[in-house]
Amino acid sequence: MKNNISSVPLPNCETVKSYAPNSPERKLVLDQYKKYYNKSIDIPMYIGGKNIKTKKTKNITPPHDHKHIIGKYYCGDKTHVESAINAALKAKIDWEKTPWEERASIFLKAAELLAGPYRQKMNAATMIGQSKNVFQAEIDAACEFIDFLRFNVQYLTDIYKNQPNSSRGIWNRMEYRPLEGFIYAITPFNFTSIAANLCIAPAIMGNTIVWKPSDHQIYSTKIIIDLLKEAGLPDGVINVIYTEPKMTSKIIFNHHDFAGLHFTGSTQVFKSIWKTIGSNIYNYKNFPRIVGETGGKDFILAHNSANIKEVTTALIRGAFEYQGQKCSAASRAYLPKSKWDSIQKELIKELKTIKIGSPYDCSNFMNAVIHKESFTKLTNTIKKIKKDKSIAKIIYGGNFDGSKGYFIEPTIVLTKKHNYFTMSEELFGPILTIYIYEDKEFEKTLRKIDTTSEYALTGAIFSKNRSIIRKTLYQLRNAAGNFYINDKPTGAVVSQQPFGGSRSSGTNDKAGSYLNLLRWVSPRTIKENFTPERNYRYPFLGQ
Ligand code: NAD
Repeated sequence: MKNNISSVPLPNCETVKSYAPNSPERKLVLDQYKKYYNKSIDIPMYIGGKNIKTKKTKNITPPHDHKHIIGKYYCGDKTHVESAINAALKAKIDWEKTPWEERASIFLKAAELLAGPYRQKMNAATMIGQSKNVFQAEIDAACEFIDFLRFNVQYLTDIYKNQPNSSRGIWNRMEYRPLEGFIYAITPFNFTSIAANLCIAPAIMGNTIVWKPSDHQIYSTKIIIDLLKEAGLPDGVINVIYTEPKMTSKIIFNHHDFAGLHFTGSTQVFKSIWKTIGSNIYNYKNFPRIVGETGGKDFILAHNSANIKEVTTALIRGAFEYQGQKCSAASRAYLPKSKWDSIQKELIKELKTIKIGSPYDCSNFMNAVIHKESFTKLTNTIKKIKKDKSIAKIIYGGNFDGSKGYFIEPTIVLTKKHNYFTMSEELFGPILTIYIYEDKEFEKTLRKIDTTSEYALTGAIFSKNRSIIRKTLYQLRNAAGNFYINDKPTGAVVSQQPFGGSRSSGTNDKAGSYLNLLRWVSPRTIKENFTPERNYRYPFLGQ
């Protein structure tokens, strides 16, 4: 029986805790970190509500202490991919019939659990497994994740309320069905909240999911599953497998009931997946929805009217927080010649105060990069830059040490070549390249920014001059899906700056807004006629 049309609790963004010395949250998170650090946990796959263990395991080690084992996870093979698909299809039968208020309640309950008893578990797991400092963990694993949970409920009702017009004797309705089949979520290592949202956004709309997380985010995956289970998510709605990506994709992208992909990761992987889906198009019952948020080559442009300290702070936070491993991280900057000496002085003075090390020591602004492959790729890049003496110069950093953890100094490169490879390719690490432009060549610089890289994710302009801001907004209208005026290009907040880019940065389906949820429904229009016609003849047929 359902005799009401309910409103949902009005969502607010979760307040970010400070973790200042002596604050209660700092003690709680560090205690939890220590607990996790000094024991070894077992992480099975999770299929149809069951924990699945196999004979093959892999160790989990923190990036900042890669010889220290904190747990192991169980790896699956093709039989596990198949049983995850079957579990998702089976659970779909009840889940899509579940009244939306009940689905919403589960996610609202999860939000409260995460804001309360799970907050420090999720933060500590993210600090250890993904090497985030406490503040970076808090804004991601706690606050952004809570915001996704609460706002998705609001967006669901906004979508459901959107109904067509009716006329006398006719009632038109729109039913927002989940997609027919199952959703495949492939998630990146760098945001716990994104990994969770790629599953919960389709799930809240009534879909069921096969989730393959990154091998480097499995510790926090375990806490996400514990949280959702405790909030009452039925078995089989989200199924987690730790399987080899190519083999997994081969099975899933050949499946008749594959209904949609929710992907975040690199552009190269997304393009190869899109091609596979295209070539398998005759195998599917429906045209699959393909949603992917991918790489970036995000920029900061300063005009000579900008404030030097504001630019410097944005460069440091934008480029080096979480070791530059944010898709939105500033990795190229365009600075005016007249201000460069002062900016450089301030930048280097500030960079010298940055400490790098374990997230357990809260005085460390930076921690380790995610894994050995990334460390090798980034350090090879630094070695190459050091050789390219005639076009590029490292003016700060450039040192690294991978003996205990994968630590790389914040590195600033100055280049004379506006399209030097570090100005166009995504490096995904703590390397920022700066190009100095002649003040009178501001317009030319706008064209360079627009055409140097294939990406269009985030960008920022610093200026006090309104007409310069207006011109920049227009000229760079296709260069970034998230554009910032006098702010760093990172740190998008759910419901405030819906996130996503175009060109090679993805399908721009704006995580953290109703636009993303719309991709997970297939609307059915229903027309009901209260006065059906009884004669086929129209008046015009009369003599
Ligand atoms: P990645 O592309 O290496 O991996 C992402 C996921 O894809 C992982 O789960 C991985 O196992 C899987 N994968 C890899 N090869 C695959 C294949 N052939 N078939 C199917 N799955 C495959 O990315 P990453 O290193 O985890 O994350 C960093 C990347 O993600 C960066 O490029 C970053 O810009 C991007 N990113 C983008 C956004 C955004 O919103 N635009 C947000 C976060 C990260």
